[in-house]
Amino acid sequence: MEEELVPLMTNDRFMFSCSASVPCFTECCRDLNQFLTPYDIIRLKNSLNLSSTEFLDQYTSRHTGPETGLPVVTFKTRPAERFVCPFVTPTGCRVYADRPSSCRTYPLVRMASRSRETGKITAYYALMKEPHCQGFDRGRSWTVQEWLQDQSLLIYNDMNDMMMEIIGLKNQMKPGRLDPELNERVYLALYDLDRFRTVVAEQADAPPESVLSDDLSLLKYAMSWIARQLMTLSQPPEPIHESR
Ligand code: SF4
Ligand code: SF4
Repeated sequence: MEEELVPLMTNDRFMFSCSASVPCFTECCRDLNQFLTPYDIIRLKNSLNLSSTEFLDQYTSRHTGPETGLPVVTFKTRPAERFVCPFVTPTGCRVYADRPSSCRTYPLVRMASRSRETGKITAYYALMKEPHCQGFDRGRSWTVQEWLQDQSLLIYNDMNDMMMEIIGLKNQMKPGRLDPELNERVYLALYDLDRFRTVVAEQADAPPESVLSDDLSLLKYAMSWIARQLMTLSQPPEPIHESR
């Protein structure tokens, strides 16, 4: 059986249930090539009581997005065990309450597009039927909205849409690869938020304490900081004085 992608309209319903009793339990946590969003990282590092730097060092690999040229981060999997997620256990996901957005969204996939005229983001959903997954046609039926609510996805989607704005701006201002210095800044601001906090707190125009002390506010600030850096690409970049 091949993987199947079935587009879903707003009122379409699908039947799905996943629990420890399914024969395929945790199969979806193997053969992983999973990208992590900046908001995923906030949730995961706080769940594990680690700094962003510690989390990134221990659990992730860094790459460059082939299409965006931006730094991207994936889980460091265990190749000897079929590229399994570092958080899978015999009883399920060790970080379930804070699992990444793609784990929450499955069996749906979300595609979003932004209108050039209005800036409005429109999301489209499809059901991804993977041959190994036996959760289909079990349990109750769901609309897309019911699934999003049930999986607490609204905040993830809002933050991921902000990330899409950064990608759009980057593609517009600087198609292709970023120079190493800007690449480093983008990685710092998007992914290594605790180190970014230390860096910007020392700047003359540091954000207020209410922003510095709150990860979500700081990530929003970091995204607008990157947007400013991208928009001033023709000028020398804002200086940052980093001490580690
Ligand atoms: S984070 Fe949890 S749900 Fe997601 S792949 Fe890893 S173990 Fe599975
Ligand atoms: S039912 Fe699907 S989502 Fe649930 S454990 Fe099995 S493969 Fe993963």
